[in-house]
Amino acid sequence: MSSTEQRVAVVTGAARGIGAATAVRLAAEGRAVAVIDLDESACKDTVEKITAAGGRAIAVGADVSDEAQVETAIARVVEELGAPTILVNNAGVLRDNLLFKMSVSDWDTVMNVHLRGSFLMARAVQKHMVDAGFGRIVNLSSSSALGNRGQVNYSAAKAGLQGFTKTLAKELGKFGITANSVAPGFIATEMTKATAERVGMNFDDFKAAAATQIPVQRVGEPEDIANAIAFFTGDAAGFVSGQVLYVAGGPLN
Ligand code: NAP
Repeated sequence: MSSTEQRVAVVTGAARGIGAATAVRLAAEGRAVAVIDLDESACKDTVEKITAAGGRAIAVGADVSDEAQVETAIARVVEELGAPTILVNNAGVLRDNLLFKMSVSDWDTVMNVHLRGSFLMARAVQKHMVDAGFGRIVNLSSSSALGNRGQVNYSAAKAGLQGFTKTLAKELGKFGITANSVAPGFIATEMTKATAERVGMNFDDFKAAAATQIPVQRVGEPEDIANAIAFFTGDAAGFVSGQVLYVAGGPLN
């Protein structure tokens, strides 16, 4: 890469929350960013934040679990921004329920967005990374990978992403591509707000209760995760691969 060339990053689920903070952070690091989410118009705020700060970004609507939409989305990124060499698989959904009440459709939705979506995206971008002899893949796991009541689907998907990450690291390392996983604890976003609503709690009370269980005594913010992702996607992180970093305000195992 010449010093004037800009690396192109793809961030999924980047209309809001952790994905939006990551897109903004990677743009601040000098990346051109494809802001991908289900609804293209919902990506407008993230794109505007980036361009207002002098960065380059485009909004792309795609369902990450749909093969054709993923292929079309990446073709658009190549055309409008250039070949992507950074991928952050962040798009996610919750369909929580206890095992005996969980529908097959709620199981499938969570598997499709997290696992199938990350697979389809990684497969679509890897050829560009191989051509460039450089790539950075970050997959969003979760503290729930260690097991969490009411999340048999989500915890299985998030644990699966850790195995996916380690295999990508082994397969793609020889092409200059690293793959790592960031596993957040409690982060204040629409996702955790929806969980508070589901259990009938005010979001501020829910966050305050969660903070008492976290060693640093606060819940995380999307920027806390974006900081970790910025490290893994940086040029300097080329010898760090196949790792899972819990970003949770304290140790988890
Ligand atoms: P969020 O606020 O709910 O944002 C997730 C984004 O992903 C939404 O904009 C959503 O779009 C989008 N999305 C959902 N399904 C998609 C699909 N099939 N294709 C494309 N985009 C899709 O969630 P978040 O809290 O920022 O979480 C981001 C990631 O971190 C997720 O993978 C999540 O599992 C993980 N995580 C979060 C926490 C936490 O405490 N917040 C903890 C651990 C891990 P719609 O709004 O249109 O559905």
